[in-house]
Order: sequence, then structure tokens, then C-alpha cells
Amino acid sequence: MNRLPVLFIGHGSPMNAIETNIYTQRLTLLGKELPRPKSILIISAHWFTKGTLVSVSEKPETIYDFYGFPPKLYQVKYPAPGAPETGYLVTLTAKSCPIFVDTEMGLDHGAWSVLRHLYPEADIPVTQMSIDYSKSPAEHYALAQELAILRDHGVLIIASGNFVHNLRAADFGNKNANPYDWNVRFDKEIANALEKVDHNRILGYEDLGQDAKLSVPTPDHFIPLFYTIGASQLGDAVTTIWEGYEHGSISMRSVMIG
Ligand code: ZN
Repeated sequence: MNRLPVLFIGHGSPMNAIETNIYTQRLTLLGKELPRPKSILIISAHWFTKGTLVSVSEKPETIYDFYGFPPKLYQVKYPAPGAPETGYLVTLTAKSCPIFVDTEMGLDHGAWSVLRHLYPEADIPVTQMSIDYSKSPAEHYALAQELAILRDHGVLIIASGNFVHNLRAADFGNKNANPYDWNVRFDKEIANALEKVDHNRILGYEDLGQDAKLSVPTPDHFIPLFYTIGASQLGDAVTTIWEGYEHGSISMRSVMIG
């Protein structure tokens, strides 16, 4: 099997899960363009744990980890089968740290809101890996480098977060609000670093000063990107899948590497 690319998908508002817009249509098209994976390993901004866990659930449940949204969002099910074999493969492949298996975890909305558009048939087995909040950027990156080999074995690695994610500054009344200058600057700076394969610039994003503070007030939505760049390999092409902003303070930029 040929090597699969690795993705970073900006997920933004949970409402994208049930909307059809040009962003969701782009994801659906991407799912059709990609070679069909055997399984999916997804790392989402919404599963933070002490230590790194990977799900080996046979039937991961759809988790509604958000509040105050319309009832129909809580009725969505993403009934993809679990990928316990991929989960165990992850535990065997990682060398820099132990990966603990989790039999309970389902799919959080950072995972299913994206997968629902990429693979609407929910017919590709999926496992989710958590983000260890105690790891440094370099440690996340090292773990992802070890997992890159899974790309040669039919595993599609997807990271789901946002380059820029500042809910305090968000204009929730207007999804199409003009993006803040710092949002655009930081988003483009990181996109340029990706183009130039300057991974240290991304891992050291805090050096970007005030723009970084405003764009990444908490690291949860940015850390998934360390998994995308870590799982990339020399010579991989970097392709922008989607570029855009939501509520002024969120970047929806999504990229494919490889
Ligand atoms: Zn999120």
C-alpha cells in the first residue's frame, strides 16, 4: 500500500458538524480524493489527559462534549467501527513514551464533526489518541515522528484543532466576522513555516509574541498541529485544503502533507 498523507483539519464551531457549507463540502470532496485508508488515527483538541491514551474500543460512542447548542446537534451519531488493532499498533510503535490503552473512550466532537464530512458513510474504522497535557511541543513531535510509519500501513493520521482559536475574542453572533489582524498574521506565519518545513518555528510558536498569545491563548487547539508536522516525512508536499476564518478569532486553515 502506498504511503497515505497526514492531515490537519481546522474544526471550528461544532455547528459545522450539521451544516453544509463550502468548507464542509471541501472536506467531503477530500474524502473522495484520498486513497481509501484501512483505518483512521485521529488526534483532537478535545481529549486532553495525563499520559497518552489510545482507544481500543470496538464501537466508539459519539460524545457530545459541548454545551448550549441546538438539540439536533446532540442527535448526530457517527457510527464508525472502532480500530482496536490500530490502537494496539500505536502502543507498539511508540518508543519515546508509553501509550496506554483506553477501552471506554468514544469519539469527541473534534473528531466526529470532521469525520462526518470526510467519510459520511462512517465505514472506516477509527481510533482516537489523546493529547498528554504534560508533554512539551518537542515530545509531541517526537511521538508523531515515531507514528509516521503507520502511514505506510494504510493508517490515515488526522489532527483536528485550529491554528488560531480564541473564544474570548470571538464574535459569536457573526460567523463571518472580519478576522482580527493578529489572527490573519499568526495564521499566515504558521502557514509559511509549514511551506518552508520550518517545524522549529511552529514548535516555538510562543516566540511570535503577542500574536501567539492572542491566537493560542491555551494550547489545546494548536498542539494537534505538532502531530501533523511530526508525522510528515522528508519530501512530502504541503497542500492547503482550506483557508478561512470563523467568528473573527478562529482560523479554519486545513492542510494535507504528503
Ligand atoms: Zn474545538
